[in-house]
Amino acid sequence: KKVADRYLKREVLGEGTYGVVYKAIDTKTGQTVAIKKIRLGKQKEGINFTALREIKLLKELKDPNIIELIDAFPHKGNLHLVFEFMETDLEAVIRDRNIFLSPADIKSYIQMTLKGLAFCHKKWVLHRDMKPNNLLIGPNGQLKLADFGLARIFGSPDRKFTHQVFARWYRAPELLFGTKQYGSGVDVWAAACIFAELLLRRPFLQGTSDIDQLGKIFAAFGTPTSSQWPDMVYLPDYVEYQYVPAPPLRSLFPMASDDALDLLSKMFTYDPKVRISVQQALEHRYFSSAPPPTDPPKLPRPN
Ligand code: ADP
Repeated sequence: KKVADRYLKREVLGEGTYGVVYKAIDTKTGQTVAIKKIRLGKQKEGINFTALREIKLLKELKDPNIIELIDAFPHKGNLHLVFEFMETDLEAVIRDRNIFLSPADIKSYIQMTLKGLAFCHKKWVLHRDMKPNNLLIGPNGQLKLADFGLARIFGSPDRKFTHQVFARWYRAPELLFGTKQYGSGVDVWAAACIFAELLLRRPFLQGTSDIDQLGKIFAAFGTPTSSQWPDMVYLPDYVEYQYVPAPPLRSLFPMASDDALDLLSKMFTYDPKVRISVQQALEHRYFSSAPPPTDPPKLPRPN
């Protein structure tokens, strides 16, 4: 069945945060695409104009490390977003026990992640929902960020769907303390969690609730002091936690190089005003020191 006279629907790829994702063929180009059908449920008739304007902006975001939004249209009361189709994602790579990730492979994956983020931050677009299954991998090993800007347009998906609990593990401490004025630092924190996950081959901070998530963060990096993070005490959901000292970061990542560890600690800085920016992270010596990042086509991928 053709959608919008252009897309031939194939199988369901999965249920996402905002609705069902289909595989489809673009009859105009012959290209395989992924169509995300977004339920517009309570938003009355159709889509509000702000959302449409923002989606138009997303269509302009074109970068080798960003999933291209090919088309967007309303159909039967749902909004359809058409993206380039991608074979696999970083979560599948991390979970695949048959895959060995060398330090050069990890460097390549995290560099592509940061490059995609840098491009969007330069255009003042935040991701806000970074996690390994949002980092899609194309046939030539190219990593591309998916779902850019959607959290802002359609609202934070948290708590609405049970499978979303995983996103909590990548949430920055300022978000967990209920900040309303978050910035690009939330994506840096999430990228740091993904970096850590590539090194450990399991999610780094697996909180079971928002409170537990903060507990896991504090156990890893020590309870933040108000000299480390002066604005913390003014955050809406701030509560005082029992003081826990930080273990040496090295003890948490025994396999990481000194350069990797230094970059990681700068990305995991508590105060979002002090936290390294994505651009600064890309200029960190970790990326210029040996080994050089693996060429994307040579990266290991699931069979
Ligand atoms: P979530 O909101 O949980 O991140 P998504 O809505 O992004 O999930 O995706 C739901 C499912 O659709 C996932 O299993 C994902 O693998 C698949 N999917 C999403 N985008 C694409 C794409 N561009 N190409 C191929 N598969 C995709």
